[in-house]
Amino acid sequence: MKTLHTDIAVIGAGTAGLAAYRAAKAAGKRALLIEGGPYGTTCARVGCMPSKLLIAAAEAAHNAAHTEAFGVHVGGEITVDGAEVMDRVKRERGRFVGFVLDGVENIPAEDKLRGYARFVSDTVLEIDDHTQVHASRVVIATGSRPSVPPPFRELGDRLVVNDDVFAWNDLPGRVAVFGPGVIGLELGQALARLGVEVRVFGVSGSLAGISDPQVRQSARKIFQREFYLDPDARVLETKRVGDEVEVRYITLDNAERTERFDYALVATGRRANVDGLGLENTSLELNVHGVPVFDRETMQAGDSAIFIAGDANADAPLLHEAADEGRIAGENAARYPDIRNGLRRAPLAVVFSDPQIAVAGQGHGRLIPGTFVVGEVDFSDQGRSRVMLKNRGLLHVYADIETGRFLGAEMVGPSAEHIGHLLAWAVQQELTVARMLEMPFYHPVIEEGLRTALRDAAAKLALARDALRNETAEQETA
Ligand SMILES: Cc1cc2nc3c(=O)[nH]c(=O)nc-3n(C[C@H](O)[C@H](O)[C@H](O)COP(=O)(O)OP(=O)(O)OC[C@H]3O[C@@H](n4cnc5c(N)ncnc54)[C@H](O)[C@@H]3O)c2cc1C
Repeated sequence: MKTLHTDIAVIGAGTAGLAAYRAAKAAGKRALLIEGGPYGTTCARVGCMPSKLLIAAAEAAHNAAHTEAFGVHVGGEITVDGAEVMDRVKRERGRFVGFVLDGVENIPAEDKLRGYARFVSDTVLEIDDHTQVHASRVVIATGSRPSVPPPFRELGDRLVVNDDVFAWNDLPGRVAVFGPGVIGLELGQALARLGVEVRVFGVSGSLAGISDPQVRQSARKIFQREFYLDPDARVLETKRVGDEVEVRYITLDNAERTERFDYALVATGRRANVDGLGLENTSLELNVHGVPVFDRETMQAGDSAIFIAGDANADAPLLHEAADEGRIAGENAARYPDIRNGLRRAPLAVVFSDPQIAVAGQGHGRLIPGTFVVGEVDFSDQGRSRVMLKNRGLLHVYADIETGRFLGAEMVGPSAEHIGHLLAWAVQQELTVARMLEMPFYHPVIEEGLRTALRDAAAKLALARDALRNETAEQETA
């Protein structure tokens, strides 16, 4: 077995790993980038980019089929050529992956090592069975993979995950989607709009990461008008029959139904790739999911020389977070033991469904009951949204009663990707609702809907403060 010595070993050449490697090199250290799978990153190969390409095709089909309300009649039948759709998805995906590969190509050969890494100790890694790497510090950036519950595994090649969808040469006829999280909802709706017959089954009512019960209910109703979606499904049996998947379930109107599908697309969550790393050979403390306990400001695991970034730490499995975390981990690995807090941004998550979903700042589920007010706008009568026939959805903004500070928001509705950015920026700037209402709002724009929600929050803040004042006065006179 070969032996290599380096300052910093980075395990995984995805978004987080590449950022960590570059930060370590920029700090003047020797660094080794270890990759076991294909180069190209999850985001470009089988994540953010191909999913958005499929969604773009779906939007084109949907828009073409919904022009009549404007008095615009597109002649003839609208057809979707599945092979052409998938060809474009793969071609464009290839371009994005190509940019990443060019970047990897530019990394000196002596800094790259192929193979899967396992810890032998805190500072020694074994790469497959060919190399032992001695590193003063290690960055774990091994990403995540789809987590597939055991009963689905019996479906063999009729079970697909997101990676498989983007390898299709044509669109199938019928797909059962399990898991209406972000990935399941995005892919399920896109396939439905491309003419695939889709059923989406969930458990416990959760939907696309929305924690606000009213926003979730609004989203649920909107999507249910378009395709079969049961976030709280009672699936009785899933089995393979010939080349098909048979699903027996209780329908939304309480009848038992058995249907056959070409595939079961399982999107029931993702699992951090830390289970095969030999973490038992390290000094690291692990949480209940087997993920090293780490500091999200420094990425350091305990007080060790090991840092963990990106999906591998299961904290905020999003592309921009992986890039930030990778950079912080690389910088701190280079500085170790003199580590520093890195820049963490206000939380922002977007779901590219139609209408889109956004969660900015603190979502409803993280707020302390009784400490905040909820400002609301229902988009059904919002001017610009109605003009464009995009008038569906609900925005809730949350504000702190004591300080008037804007805390966060959840929404399903038009342009959520843009409104979400405005709101996350406001959270990071620590703006109050009053200060946000001093900002310009053009007319007629969807942001006027946001202003309505903020005004509603301002009015409720005034009421809540009056109530607090009265309560205090009563207590003082009692
Ligand atoms: C379908 C889908 C859609 C998504 N859409 C979005 C989106 O719209 N917006 C967004 O922000 N995020 C999105 N994401 C999430 C985003 O893709 C991830 O958060 C991001 O790619 C994580 O980057 P990473 O560097 O942590 O992991 P990865 O890019 O997966 O890199 C990890 C690397 O580590 C390697 N590796 C693993 N174990 C070892 C080992 N033991 N030794 C050596 N190498 C190893 C792997 O082969 C892999 O190359 C999406 C994800 C999916 C699946």
